[in-house]
Amino acid sequence: MCIFCKIASGEIPSNKIYEDEQVLAFYDLQPQAPIHFLVIPKEHIPSAAAITAENSAIVAHIYEVIAKLAAELKLENGFRVVVNCGEQGGQTVQHLHFHVLAGRDMTWPPG
Ligand code: AMP
Ligand code: ZN
Repeated sequence: MCIFCKIASGEIPSNKIYEDEQVLAFYDLQPQAPIHFLVIPKEHIPSAAAITAENSAIVAHIYEVIAKLAAELKLENGFRVVVNCGEQGGQTVQHLHFHVLAGRDMTWPPG
């Protein structure tokens, strides 16, 4: 089982913000901004490159959860959602996850 599957199942602890039947949100261990959390599907999807017509509904749900958490955490100054995919994309955990970063000015383009 991959590390995020273990977090989703509770085998590895996390600093959880939100959970429902389909997704889990928890704070990143190595925050890259004052607020930095991850939203993951509980289902193991290896990366954004593995999204298909069969599993894409979870992506819409994840964005609903992000909007809800942004309101709850009062991120009214804005936030950034990042999905790293593949080696050149900077993905280090092979389980789809959405980074949500907030609390500082972001730069563009990302490094
Ligand atoms: P990426 O590099 O886009 O694949 O992002 C993986 C992220 O997972 C990194 O920001 C890590 O800091 C984070 N991470 C790895 N293990 C854990 C963990 N056990 N709990 C919380 N965040 C983690
Ligand atoms: Zn997994």
